[in-house]
Amino acid sequence: MGKPLRVLFIEDSEEDVLLLARELQRGGYDLIFDRVDTGAAMRAALKKQSWDLTITDYNMPQFSAPDVLSILKESGTDLPCIIVTGSQGEETAVATMKAGANDFILKGNLSRLVPAVARELRDAELRQEQRRTERAIQHLAYYDTLTDLPNRTLLQDRLQQAILSARRDGKSLALLVMDLDRFKEINNVLGHHYGDLVLQQVGPRLREVLRESDTVSRLGGDEFALLLLSIGAEGAVLTAQKILKHFLNPFVVDCLSLEVGTSIGIALFPDHGEDANNLMRRADMAMYAAKQENAGYAIYSPQHEKHNSSHLILMGDLRHAIDRNEFFLAYQPKIDLQTGSIIGVEALVRWQHPSRGLISPDQFISLSEQGGLIKPLTLWVLNAALMQCRAWHQAGLRLSVAVNLSARNLLDPQLSDQIARLLQTCELEPQWLHLEITESVIMADPARAMEILNQLSKMGIRLSIDDFGTGYSSLGYLKKLPVDEIKIDKSFVKEMSVEEDDAMIVRSTIDLAHNLGLKVVAEGVENREILDRLIVLGCDAAQGYYMSRPISPADLLGWLNHSPWGLKASKEEKAGAP
Ligand code: C2E
Ligand code: CA
Ligand code: CA
Repeated sequence: MGKPLRVLFIEDSEEDVLLLARELQRGGYDLIFDRVDTGAAMRAALKKQSWDLTITDYNMPQFSAPDVLSILKESGTDLPCIIVTGSQGEETAVATMKAGANDFILKGNLSRLVPAVARELRDAELRQEQRRTERAIQHLAYYDTLTDLPNRTLLQDRLQQAILSARRDGKSLALLVMDLDRFKEINNVLGHHYGDLVLQQVGPRLREVLRESDTVSRLGGDEFALLLLSIGAEGAVLTAQKILKHFLNPFVVDCLSLEVGTSIGIALFPDHGEDANNLMRRADMAMYAAKQENAGYAIYSPQHEKHNSSHLILMGDLRHAIDRNEFFLAYQPKIDLQTGSIIGVEALVRWQHPSRGLISPDQFISLSEQGGLIKPLTLWVLNAALMQCRAWHQAGLRLSVAVNLSARNLLDPQLSDQIARLLQTCELEPQWLHLEITESVIMADPARAMEILNQLSKMGIRLSIDDFGTGYSSLGYLKKLPVDEIKIDKSFVKEMSVEEDDAMIVRSTIDLAHNLGLKVVAEGVENREILDRLIVLGCDAAQGYYMSRPISPADLLGWLNHSPWGLKASKEEKAGAP
C-alpha cells in the first residue's frame, strides 16, 4: 500500500493524465484522481470532494493555467497547484508562479514530478498546521478558555461595532454587567472545581433567555456582560428580570444543588454613554448599586457615580486613618449564662472620619481588604485591644478580649509572631486573647489557614468560629480545626422566638457543639425572652444589645457597676483585685 493521494488533473489529454498517474504510482502514491478540462467541471469537482493536489496543463482548448489558478483562489481551498506542460517559455513559468502556481514542470522532465509533489504536500501540511495555530491563538485572544464565551476584548470590539451601527440607524442598545452573588463562597468552601463548573453553566443558562443576536461574554472572575442589540430601557429591564427569575433555579453541579444569585447593572446607549468605555463603566457602577441595595438589578443613574467615587475617596482616607489616629474600639460584653456575669468583651473597630462622622466596620473592613490595608488595621486593633485588656487586668478586671480577623490575616505567615510579641509587650497570658474567624476566612485557603490556626492555638490563644450557620461547613469539619468555641450567627438568634426553624437550628447547634466539646456563644440577643430560651437550651454564653451595645471603656466601667451582668463579675473580681 502506498501513501494515499487525491489528485485533480486539469488536462484535456486523457493519455497525459495516465502518464502522470503512472509516474506518481511509481513514486509510491496510492492514487485517487479525476480529470476535468473546463472551468465549470473544475468548480464542480472542487465542491464534490476534497483534494490534496491539483496538476494542470498550461494550455487546453477551453481553458488555461491562469484560469485554473484564479478558480483555485476563489475557492479558498489553498490546494497546491503544479503546472505540467509540453513547452512554455521561462517567462510564462515565472508569471504563473507569481500567480500562485507552486511548481512548473516540463512533460519531458517528469522525474521532477514526484519530489515536487512530496514537497508541496509537506508545505501544504505545514501551512495547514500554521493556520490551525493561528486560529487557536485568535480564539485564545478573543474567547475565555474556561467558558468558551467571548472575552472582554471581543465584547469591547462588538460593543464598538454595535454602537457605530446603532448610531447610524438611530437605534438604542443595552449593556448589562452582572456578577454572581454567592460565588466566592462556593469557590472557597467547595473548591475551584465547583466554582468552575458553575461558571461554565452560566453562559448556557443566559442563552436560554436571550436572543440569537445578543452577546454573552465573560469579563473575568464571576463577572459577565451581555450586549443586547436594538433594545430600550423597558426591554433591558424585562431581560434583567427574566435572568433574575431564571437564576432562582439552583445550579446542579456533581449532584450538589447550589443557589447562585446575581446582581445586574444596566447602561443604555445613547442615554448613559456614547462610547464603549463609558457604557462599561456605568453598567459596572449600576451593578455595584444593585448589589449594595440588594435590588437584583439597577439602571445606571448619575447618583451611582457619586457613590462610586466616594468609595475611592474613602479608600484614600483609609490610608491615613491609622496615622491620624481616627480609629477607636468599642467593646461589647460577653455574658456567661451559667454565672450570669461578664466573662469578656469583643473589640469592634470604629472609624471617626474627620468629615463624615462615625463609620461602621461593615463600610470599611472590606474596603481595607481591597486596598491592602487590613494587615496594619488588624495589628492596630490587636495592639489597642491588648493594651486595654492589660489596663483592665491591672485594675483587677480579669476580662478576656476577642478580636476579629479577616481572610487576609489568616494567610499572613507573620501573624502569629506579631501576636506573640504583642502579648509579651502587654505581659498578658495568651488565654485572655480570643480570635474570631468566620468560616469563609478559613475556607479561602484551608491548608494555610489550618497551619496558622494551629500555631495560634499552640500558643494558647482561644479561637472562635464567628457567624456560625451562615456558611457551608459542618460542625464535624470545624472539629478538625483547633477551635474552642462557635458563635451562632445573630440572624438565627434574633429570629428564635418567632421562627421555629431558627430555634431548631440554635438548639441542635448547641447540642452538636457540646458533643464535640465546643463552647457555644449566641450573638444578637435582643430581648429577655431569647436570653431565657438560650439558658434553657444550655447555651454557654451570650452577647447582644439586650445586655449591652458595643461601648467605650469608660462606659463599660459604668455598665459593670450598674448592670445585672456586670455587678457580680466586678464584685467577684474586685475581691481578688490588688
Ligand atoms: P461581628 O463580628 O459578627 O460583630 C457583631 C456585630 O453585631 C457588631 O456590629 C455588633 O455591633 C452587632 N451586634 C451586637 N449585638 C447585636 C444585637 O443584639 N443585635 C444586632 N442587630 N446586632 C448586634 P459591628 O460592630 O458593626 O461590626 C460588624 C462586623 O464588622 C463584625 O461582625 C465584624 O465582622 C466586623 N468587624 C468589626 N470590627 C472588626 C475588626 O477589628 N476587624 C475585622 N477584621 N472585622 C471587624
Ligand atoms: Ca465577631
Ligand atoms: Ca458574628
